[in-house]
Amino acid sequence: MPSGPTGTRPDWQRTHTCGALRGTDEGASVVLNGWVASRRDLGGIYFLDLRDRYGITQIVVEEELAGTVQVGPEWVLAVHGTVRSRGTNVNTDRATGEVEVVATKIDVLSESPTPPIEIIDDLDTAVETRLRWRFLDLRRAPLQRNMIHRSRFINAMRRAFESREFVEIETPLLTKATPEGARDYLVPSRVHPGSFYALPQSPQIFKQILMVSGYDRYFQVARCFRDEDLRADRQPDFTQLDMEMSFVNEEDVFATWEGVLVETFKDAMGVEIETPFPRMTYHEAMERYGSDKPDVRFGLELRDAHEWALASSFVVFKSVAESEGGRVKGLTVPGGASMSRKEIEALEVVAKEYGAKGLAWWKAGSDGGAGPLARFCKAPEEGGVAPAVALMETMEAGDGDLCLFVAADGATVHKALGALRLHLGKQLGLFEESLTNFRFTWVTDFPMFERDENTGKWVSLHHPFTAPSDESFETPMGEMPSRAYDLCLNGWELGSGSIRIHRQDVQEKIFELLEMGSEEQRAKFGFLLDALEYGAPPHGGFAIGLDRLVALTLGLDNIRDVIAFPKTTRAADLFCGAPAPVDPAQLADVHVRCELPARAAASEQDPAETSA
Ligand code: ASP
Repeated sequence: MPSGPTGTRPDWQRTHTCGALRGTDEGASVVLNGWVASRRDLGGIYFLDLRDRYGITQIVVEEELAGTVQVGPEWVLAVHGTVRSRGTNVNTDRATGEVEVVATKIDVLSESPTPPIEIIDDLDTAVETRLRWRFLDLRRAPLQRNMIHRSRFINAMRRAFESREFVEIETPLLTKATPEGARDYLVPSRVHPGSFYALPQSPQIFKQILMVSGYDRYFQVARCFRDEDLRADRQPDFTQLDMEMSFVNEEDVFATWEGVLVETFKDAMGVEIETPFPRMTYHEAMERYGSDKPDVRFGLELRDAHEWALASSFVVFKSVAESEGGRVKGLTVPGGASMSRKEIEALEVVAKEYGAKGLAWWKAGSDGGAGPLARFCKAPEEGGVAPAVALMETMEAGDGDLCLFVAADGATVHKALGALRLHLGKQLGLFEESLTNFRFTWVTDFPMFERDENTGKWVSLHHPFTAPSDESFETPMGEMPSRAYDLCLNGWELGSGSIRIHRQDVQEKIFELLEMGSEEQRAKFGFLLDALEYGAPPHGGFAIGLDRLVALTLGLDNIRDVIAFPKTTRAADLFCGAPAPVDPAQLADVHVRCELPARAAASEQDPAETSA
């Protein structure tokens, strides 16, 4: 590679990017640096598309030069040349389409074998392959656009917080467990044999302590680590915009975030979002949408058919309605009566996938309607309101509508109907999927505790630092309301927060309710309890999942494509091969000996054996 003497600008350095040249640059002498996106040979001459992150410029390599320089796909070149107009032959698909550069000299800065994935916009290759060759994948324009958008978005948000007097403070990564409902990633200590750091599930305790230290308004673009089952909207390490404020209540936190988000969307995307965001209690969200992260872009709300079921002659419904905790609820699909049996069966598959034993259906009609429920909707011989009419009222259904029902315990009913509602919303095109249709909702009044499905023990629904709405503790644990809230956007949970406990005695009481004795409290959270003793202001905060928010603002349904080096759903980084076995000497250094499960030992824990 040619290089200039130290201190001088090498002559191969670009004068313009590959996205810069326009018709007005005609005649200019330029140097472009970039990757060979494509090559077309035409008799003795050839054309190159030279690409960098700013765009693509067409290069013409005429006969004399063409015979002397070799170039291949994805080679890195410095092209010296003169800008020429393409006359009437303009390429309207690219910003540089009015011109081409006639090369006078080409320096090969770097060669490349033919890459294993194509560097094109719509690449149809298995995700595993893309992740394995992530550095090439990241060279593709759509991913570069995502990364640049992410950077812009996060910086806009930073500015919005700074302009509101928030102080950005970094909290430690090698720390103690900060429970947010997942498993911890642990790091063994070399100098404290047998002791481990935990990577933070969130900066929760530190940000609360910063409030005790008087920082008043804190924020951080924070890396968090949670070892849990992964899905399209979860990665083991992810980024939150984390914040905390002192001397506030819920209204202050909501108003701050609404202001920040309005500013960020405008600044980074030129999009106006409407405030105030609607609010809904957790109870209302579950009852109306079957979910604590309701997608309010469309209706199709759940209807309660409990009373109808109790009075009906349909024993399946009646017995569930009569049982403790049993619920009978449904959805009314407008115009859905035209669906075929096969189409309805496909809906039943969805409901079953989410735990329902079956999906009862009825094509609404005051004459009794049609479908399996029709025979229970016949008019009674002795007169009175026909069950068909009563059911139409209950379900707010008219002739031609389809009613779908699930009968089970409340949690299953909501889970199945909530999922079915989302499925139908998509299938029937009930909402506009656009990059301007952002519908935020605050969900408030979450319960304090829930039962752990595996152990049956009470656990915090949010985390144990969330303040209860009522500090008398007279309500049974299952019904105790909290001051926790979530923010949802288009059916995704964007973030959570709460007003925190700022009194040591209340914090200790919550730990006790969670069956944590005073010794365990001291061992795990003594540093927080100490801080709460020495002048803790009332405080509250919130954290938003930046990967989710950035993905949603790009219309993506997987956060993988807004993270430069994401992991698979089995938490493996296929690109660098993490996690990986380590040298026994390294393990000895940190006083760790591995005891592997039989299967993992046999396959030597190959993280590449994984699905994305
Ligand atoms: N720690 C966050 C908060 O309550 C919540 C979260 O990390 O999900 O502010």
